[in-house]
Amino acid sequence: MARKSLNKSIFRLVVGLIVFTSITLFLIVWLATINQTQKRLDAGLEIGQNVLERVLKSREDLLFTSAHVLAADFGFKQAVASKDKATIDSALENHGSRINADLMALIALDGKTITSAPDILPPNKDFPYTSIFNDILKGGGTSVLMMLDQQLYQVIMLTVNAPRPIALALIGFKLDIVTLQELTAITKLNTSLQVFNNKQETYQISTLSPPNMEKALSQIETRPSWLSITVSRDIPYISRQFILGDELGHKTVLTLSEDVQRLFSDFTDLQLRLFITGTLAILLASLLGALFSNRIAKPLALLAIKAKEISVGNYSNPIDMHCSTEEVSQLSEAFTSMQGNIQLREEKITFQARHDNLTSLYNRQFVETLIEKKFEAGSPFLVIGINIFGFRGINDIFGYHNGDKCLTELALRLSSFGGISARLTGGELLWLPDGIPSDTFITTMKSKLEAAVNIGEFNIDLKVALGLMTCPKDAKTPEEIFKSMNIVLDEAQITRQFILPFDPSLEARYSRRLAIITELKNALKNAPHELTLNYQPKLNIQTGKVTHVEALIRWTNPRLGFVSPEDFIAIAEQAGFIQHVTQWVIKQAINDAEKFYHAGFPQSVAINLSAKDIMNASLLTQIVELIDARNLPRDCVSFELTEGDLVKDHAKAIAHMQAYQDAGFKLAIDDFGTGYSSMAYLQNLPVNTLKVDKSFVMNLHEQEGDKKIVQTVINLAHNFDMNVVAEGVENLESLRLLAKWGCELAQGYYICRPIKADDLLVWLAEHNQKEWLM
Ligand code: C2E
Ligand code: CA
Ligand code: CA
Repeated sequence: MARKSLNKSIFRLVVGLIVFTSITLFLIVWLATINQTQKRLDAGLEIGQNVLERVLKSREDLLFTSAHVLAADFGFKQAVASKDKATIDSALENHGSRINADLMALIALDGKTITSAPDILPPNKDFPYTSIFNDILKGGGTSVLMMLDQQLYQVIMLTVNAPRPIALALIGFKLDIVTLQELTAITKLNTSLQVFNNKQETYQISTLSPPNMEKALSQIETRPSWLSITVSRDIPYISRQFILGDELGHKTVLTLSEDVQRLFSDFTDLQLRLFITGTLAILLASLLGALFSNRIAKPLALLAIKAKEISVGNYSNPIDMHCSTEEVSQLSEAFTSMQGNIQLREEKITFQARHDNLTSLYNRQFVETLIEKKFEAGSPFLVIGINIFGFRGINDIFGYHNGDKCLTELALRLSSFGGISARLTGGELLWLPDGIPSDTFITTMKSKLEAAVNIGEFNIDLKVALGLMTCPKDAKTPEEIFKSMNIVLDEAQITRQFILPFDPSLEARYSRRLAIITELKNALKNAPHELTLNYQPKLNIQTGKVTHVEALIRWTNPRLGFVSPEDFIAIAEQAGFIQHVTQWVIKQAINDAEKFYHAGFPQSVAINLSAKDIMNASLLTQIVELIDARNLPRDCVSFELTEGDLVKDHAKAIAHMQAYQDAGFKLAIDDFGTGYSSMAYLQNLPVNTLKVDKSFVMNLHEQEGDKKIVQTVINLAHNFDMNVVAEGVENLESLRLLAKWGCELAQGYYICRPIKADDLLVWLAEHNQKEWLM
């Protein structure tokens, strides 16, 4: 269906209604007027006829009275009887002039005219209508219309009795044009009079002109049609005819004619006025209709345009339609609020699409486009990756809720430095400063970022690693930035270099690290023969015997060759699968401990554990099961922990360590002196042994500072009832010093390098009696 415009529809409706109403009204009024006029016409003709008859009757009465008076006049009668013509004439004259009669005559009974005034009837000549004499004589008189001397008269004829009728008196009024004009003056109808003799018109007078009279006479009792009245106007008269008299051989016919033009002139006026009013109404309606429809349709059309604009996301133009129509105003208001809501929602969606939910920093996708713009701008810029060090640990220990809190806090701090901040994944953020900040600024920023985060009861110490990339030197696309930044931050994390600029060599190291992860996982699962354990004796300086060894893992991979545990242990810890390495080590170490035990050289095999391992509650159970299954004493193994690993969740770590001690295992703090922990802190730890880090021991014989440190550590450890192991003993001088200071155990290349289990048995047998201090 073709759609019509509202504007046109309303216009058509309004104008159509007015046209319809006007035409209907016009027709009704018109019909009613015609009807009314017809009735008025009939009434007019009727009245005219009545008036005419009355006039004629009154004239007749007048004639009668006058005739009677005349006939009764004694003098007159005598004069008639005596044929005194002069007296007769004067009597007729007197009477006639009294009533303004047009004709006075006296006729003898033999039909001869005696006298006539005026003398239209010649004396002694035959009166033309003697046929009525008998009637007059019988009735005493008659009233009749008669043609005399080419004139129509209304005539009264009476007998003049003395006492018998002796003559006939005649008194008449002319029915001439003057009479008709008088009648017309009264009735307002045109009057025509015709006299027919044997259907032959013999006399004719009319108030109308001869051609009009002819028209009037041809339209007797014709009802004019509405067409002839309004349009053709071919019927000028409507006439009614009646017979005034039909005697003496002639028929007198009177015609009353109404001038149709005059009669309908009021109506025509009305019609004209009605037509003009109707036309004006239609014009006005068209104008108002156009205005009105425009007033409704125009705002709607504007709203439609607005809706289209909104649909393509153009919200900037406000909808201010000053419109007096309530509904359209409401619609316009609804549009305005809709526009606002859509805009808000779109802004929200756009915000969500561009920002990270948790921190409200930009997300990875959006920062990518911002970086692209920076590349397009052409000038070099700095990108700083920020990684919360050990973020996984924070989540594990304090819960995700607090992990999130640390992140949002960090994001907030980062935003305060301006520039562009984004969150990539997990605890990794990206910052693009506005300019190129100085090194000092970066260091200050780092320490500000690392301020402790308060989570109610606790403060969480944040440690962040910053990776620095200068673009486009270090990377040419956002993708490259993300990839390389990953490598830099990874390296910073592993090497504990907390502000690390990008270097192309990092990529090779990163690839190697990835290879180590893949290959080590594979070795643990499918090729355990790539892994071996070496043992390094710990010499009991007092007894000169070896009852303690440290298990040190070795890995030789077909693709990577020999990989130092310094490298792969850290990677396995970081990649989250250190527990599989530990499990392999524990099994192997207990197997070997059993071997040493049954070979007659029972050893306490020290196994290195990482922080993850000590927190793993099921590990202790496994160890206990393995040892008990072999019926070995619990002290066939002991454990070494790095102090740095214990700082994080101190209370929990202490509880777990206590569990190891309760199960009969000895614990040592490894690499003592490299971390931050003080002796006071160590006091609370359930450990039996301190291992002084090799960095203090290797050059002990020549480094006075190291001497002081090692000596102090030994003294303090003894104060806390702990044994001391010195590792990295590379010469006799150092061994002697340690012996002098009361150090319990010594471990180092001077005594023995880490060797295979079988070789250890040989070595033990060979060095059983050795005098180490000699
Ligand atoms: P660590 O626990 O401090 O082990 C002692 C390291 O010092 C060993 O290096 C050992 O070969 C070396 N060493 C011993 N005596 C001397 C000496 O006189 N001079 C010098 N320069 N070095 C000496 P290695 O075997 O390369 O182990 C490196 C680190 O790898 C270990 O440090 C330990 O932290 C880790 N590691 C080794 N095996 C395991 C293991 O089975 N489990 C875990 N979790 N970590 C292990
Ligand atoms: Ca160790
Ligand atoms: Ca060590």
